[in-house]
Amino acid sequence: METKSVKAYGTTGAKELLQEMTIKRRALLPHDVEMEILFCGICHSDLHQAHNDFGGSTYPMVPGHEIVGKITAVGEHVKNFKIGDLAGVGCIIDSCRECEYCERSEEMYCAEETLSFNSPDKYLGGMTLGGYAETYVADERYVLHIPENLDLASAAPLLCAGITVYSPFKHWNIGVGSKVGVLGIGGLGHVAIKIAKGLGADVIVFTTSETKVADAKRLGADDAVLTKDDEQLKRYIGQLDMVLDTVSAPHDVNVYLNQLKPEGTVVLVGLPNQPLPINPFNVVRGRRSFAGSNIGGIKETQEMLDFCGKHNITADIELVNIQDINTAYDRLINGDVHYRFVIDMASLKG
Ligand code: NAP
Ligand code: ZN
Ligand code: ZN
Repeated sequence: METKSVKAYGTTGAKELLQEMTIKRRALLPHDVEMEILFCGICHSDLHQAHNDFGGSTYPMVPGHEIVGKITAVGEHVKNFKIGDLAGVGCIIDSCRECEYCERSEEMYCAEETLSFNSPDKYLGGMTLGGYAETYVADERYVLHIPENLDLASAAPLLCAGITVYSPFKHWNIGVGSKVGVLGIGGLGHVAIKIAKGLGADVIVFTTSETKVADAKRLGADDAVLTKDDEQLKRYIGQLDMVLDTVSAPHDVNVYLNQLKPEGTVVLVGLPNQPLPINPFNVVRGRRSFAGSNIGGIKETQEMLDFCGKHNITADIELVNIQDINTAYDRLINGDVHYRFVIDMASLKG
């Protein structure tokens, strides 16, 4: 298959630093679009996979699945995009298109989904390579439209963080009258506050960071609880419909099961790389649930982007040059980010 060489940033091993490399993108198939990547968010999942936190990572790896840019070429059968359009690519770039899940645009359940990086590439062989690069090529079925009124760099994190928090809120019917806890105020958590408020819910933040208690209200939360303070942790016991748990490291989820009303649900979207023990009484009493949720389908991702366009919701970002990516990763591990790093991909050209 014909390919095109482009510049990218990636890693050659779990303990290596990210560095500039040259990668190949496929020549356009009839339904493909090519986009010039203008901005790419840095998700904690990029870091987990670059560092092989889950096992199974392969190298060289180019992370990045919060990709936004402009369409630069379209295949002959492309219907929904033209050159110059704003476009986004998130976590899913292909799937079987025939199973019951694909039919309902729940591609995240498809057994043959292809992810935007570190996933078998059915066209070029090897693994897919993500958005820390000059361009991306994908079938238009998996490419999103970005509302024109949103700041493009700040909209990039919606492609993963946005859909990952929007989808469980919709699934568990969060809206006016709901009381939602958001645990962990990083990239996902701070977008979750804004989206839950946009849906009309009351939002209570749970954070380990004192500075974020003060900032939570600015982000739209109704109240914030410092989780290191046992007294503050008593404030919402038995009162919440749902707690969205975005924490990336091992932590005690029993504390948050206890914040739920009867029949409430803790929804884990964070991916700590160790089991999280649950006290049986915390789910048996009150028929409470501990559940998980993984990104969301393409149709719902577009719905989320349109919702964010309507409510003017974007991430609070710190724009970084690609050459500073290793420092950004260190800072992400230390929780030193307010609240999402986004790479200015123009720096890759320099
Ligand atoms: P992030 O920006 O690093 O935020 C994680 C937050 O968790 C931190 O800001 C911190 O919030 C809290 N935290 C970190 N370490 C902690 C600890 N030891 N104990 C308690 N709290 C801690 O990460 P992110 O990009 O939002 O991603 C969060 C997690 O979701 C990652 O594991 C990522 O892989 C996963 N993820 C899952 C999906 C999915 O589809 N399920 C999609 C995207 C990402 P405070 O300072 O407020 O305590
Ligand atoms: Zn992500
Ligand atoms: Zn399928």
